[in-house]
Amino acid sequence: MTAPTPLIAGNWKMNGTAASIDEARAVAAGVGGGKVRVAICPPAPLIHRMSEALAGSAVLVGAQDNHSEAVGAFTGDVSAEMLADAGARLVILGHSERRAGYGETDALIASKVRAALRAGLEPIVCVGETLEQRKAGDALKVVTGQVRGSLPRELDRKAYSVAYEPVWAIGTGLTPTLAEIEEMHSAIRATLRDLFGSDGDKPPILYGGSVKPGNAAEILHAAEVGGALVGGASLKAVDFLGIIRAL
Ligand code: PEP
Repeated sequence: MTAPTPLIAGNWKMNGTAASIDEARAVAAGVGGGKVRVAICPPAPLIHRMSEALAGSAVLVGAQDNHSEAVGAFTGDVSAEMLADAGARLVILGHSERRAGYGETDALIASKVRAALRAGLEPIVCVGETLEQRKAGDALKVVTGQVRGSLPRELDRKAYSVAYEPVWAIGTGLTPTLAEIEEMHSAIRATLRDLFGSDGDKPPILYGGSVKPGNAAEILHAAEVGGALVGGASLKAVDFLGIIRAL
């Protein structure tokens, strides 16, 4: 089985206005050949403008969440169909900030994944343990449980990725050891094989949590690491390109 094409996705979170699209243009101008797929996931109001600005470039535009329904009385929410209509090609689902801040359960995330597939979006499904769970020795159990609960059967034969993001490594400057990353990624791969058979070898498993230009090379070359989901360091083109070029 050939290794999945790596994906490096930037999660801008709730950062950026129209002026920030220049950073995305600079990323597009600096991205080279095709050995890696690159995506930027800006806040929803920027998706349309960014898609137009990056049209024809090697950088894909993604979203950070979608509702499970296509239309309806859900004030303030945005559906996967609307995001696709605005130009998004991918969507981050189940980020720990949504699991913690909005009480998103595995079952809700699975329903959002189904909605993303219905709209033709490629999901990036996030999983990750808290520091307390790691200290208690429960990290593998928690994360493989999230994989089982958040990935619906409908993903079979579809394009998607899983992002392992230890909650305690997000935005903190802390990272797990390479051995801890490799142990978790191999447990996620085994779970994907259990769920989807040999097709479980296809999705890249991204690492996320304080990836920077200075630590990207060793993380990205670790076993079963198929790319990165990058928060803070994706906001500046020079940093994001530094990570992309580390592959
Ligand atoms: C994230 O929020 O997905 C993330 C990985 O953030 P950071 O890179 O800033 O730790």
